[in-house]
Amino acid sequence: MTFTKRVEIEPSATMTINSLALQKRSLGEHVFNFAAGDPVVPNHAAILERVKQGLKNKLSPYPPVAGLADLRDAAASWMNVTYGTRYEKENTLVTCGGKFAIYAIAQALLEKGDEAVIIAPYWVSYPGIVSLAEAKTKTVQTNEKSGWKVTAEALEKAFTKKTKLLILNNGCNPTGALYTRQEIAEILAVCKEANVTVLSDEVYSEIVYEGKFVSCGSFPDHRDGVVVVQSCSKNFAMAGWRVGFVFGDPKLIKVLATIQGQSTTGTSIVSQWAALGALSQAKEVASNVREVMLQRRTLFLAAYEEHFGEALLKPASAIYVFAPISHFGAKGDSVAFCEKVLEKANVTLIPGIAFGTEGYVRFAFSGTEKDITGGIQALSDVC
Ligand code: PLP
Repeated sequence: MTFTKRVEIEPSATMTINSLALQKRSLGEHVFNFAAGDPVVPNHAAILERVKQGLKNKLSPYPPVAGLADLRDAAASWMNVTYGTRYEKENTLVTCGGKFAIYAIAQALLEKGDEAVIIAPYWVSYPGIVSLAEAKTKTVQTNEKSGWKVTAEALEKAFTKKTKLLILNNGCNPTGALYTRQEIAEILAVCKEANVTVLSDEVYSEIVYEGKFVSCGSFPDHRDGVVVVQSCSKNFAMAGWRVGFVFGDPKLIKVLATIQGQSTTGTSIVSQWAALGALSQAKEVASNVREVMLQRRTLFLAAYEEHFGEALLKPASAIYVFAPISHFGAKGDSVAFCEKVLEKANVTLIPGIAFGTEGYVRFAFSGTEKDITGGIQALSDVC
């Protein structure tokens, strides 16, 4: 059997560490999980109630490929009410999670020879998704001093004639960086000038602790050049249901629906009912998740400072902390450090190199309180 170049993609580093941890668990060992980016919060009653209601007539037909009409309407109106966008059903697609949304957009907009600009530290899956579309990634590195944010000037310098797409992740996984309205306006302006489409990955939009979330979809002058990706995974703590959304130009939505029609056939109808339940009480469901994540962030930062004597840059959003491995007396290779920590302390972390930034590790503080305090203690014991 010969495989094509497209499948020579490295497996996601987060998945690899998770499966090593699962192996340890299957041997009966307790593993402290700082790796999975999954808000561990019970499903809100509204989610479960709507699923029960859907199951009443005991039928589960194929849903429309682009998603249930009610759900497309509900998602568009949630964006409009929450972030001041102006979307309608025709601007909205339901996908199998935000990840498939990004994959489908890359398939629709990129081809061989094109470049997609991503900002490091970046979400681990962007480079693989761009390669699967046979395009090249161009990385713009940011640093801790500037709060891990990219500037419009740095992007302008990075763009070439081949650049078709900018993937902007606001609030950012793994750094928690959150962009202001002014910063986004400047970024959108340089993208428009260079004719670069902005894929705005906004899957942590409701998990914001400091400042205000601004959607790239809320700039009327940039409607044509912006496509927004959303998800129920983080904002409503529904990762396993696998529901995401795309908001953008109706022509693009139609193309993406065609890609879905020939790949996933759309999102499970049961999951779409669950998403309808979450959106029916979106404010409450999201504020519950945010409240729990805020408590865990506070607990994590305090335990970290107590054990390692170092204060961290407080993430303004999302569910992660990006920490230099120098805090643990280590240097250089973040993969070796994570392997050692998993081996010796039964603690899972994700190496910074998976996000394109060596010398750091990512902690997810979205797990249980027991995992946070126990994990920090175990890590401090071996460091
Ligand atoms: N975008 C970012 C930045 C993420 O961190 C994730 C998941 O970790 C996703 C997109 C995809 O999320 P999902 O496919 O669960 O909606």
